[in-house]
Amino acid sequence: MTGAMQSLFRAIYPPRCLTCEEIVAEEGGLCGPCWRGARFITGLVCDTCGMPLPGEADDAVLCDDCLATPRPWRQGRAALVYRDTGRKLVLALKHGDRTDLVDAAAAWLLRAARPILTEAPIVVPIPLHWRRLAARRYNQSALLAGALARQGGLDHCPDALRRARATPSQDGRDRDARFANLDGALIPHRPERLRDRAVLVVDDVMTSGATFAAATEACRAAGAADIRVLALARVAKDV
Ligand SMILES: [Zn+2]
Ligand SMILES: [Zn+2]
Repeated sequence: MTGAMQSLFRAIYPPRCLTCEEIVAEEGGLCGPCWRGARFITGLVCDTCGMPLPGEADDAVLCDDCLATPRPWRQGRAALVYRDTGRKLVLALKHGDRTDLVDAAAAWLLRAARPILTEAPIVVPIPLHWRRLAARRYNQSALLAGALARQGGLDHCPDALRRARATPSQDGRDRDARFANLDGALIPHRPERLRDRAVLVVDDVMTSGATFAAATEACRAAGAADIRVLALARVAKDV
């Protein structure tokens, strides 16, 4: 576009905040209130579930939950706490057709993943069941995984895993029910891409970790060497 066309375009379609309708100065930005409501996860975190923890430490630490029930994957991180702006981001991507926020979200994902990107993993999204994919037209986790792989110069396999069956929503289930609901729900679809590879599984939100556990099981069944997980937002208590 020429400069004049560009100004005209921006006058008609001014850039909007990633999580609300506020007009912002630049494409891919947050407005002031949404920026202040964004709780980026930095500092000390649980090495396997990415939960923010108080204090400082040089060594890898685990939260009480992960000490009590070890995670099946090796390490995990999340970019934001699933609250305020973090929650709005996930919902805008999932239900609001705001696929324009993917590039900014991928940059935050990449920053959160840096400490665990030690072996140039292949990036693999949590798959949607085809029926849900048909209704939504896109898999938000695959969009995030693809943009993350592009920005980080990593391999990406969007169809490495698939849903063996449709699973009812996780909403309203307690922790055990969430794990039971997802048990065996994911299977490898492209096992040859995963065999002996370090894998980074990407999802939009992590709550109990049941979905990541099911994905880890599927990656392991395909012979993956090392499995790590990464979520855009992490449900976190009292932080
Ligand atoms: Zn906003
Ligand atoms: Zn933990």
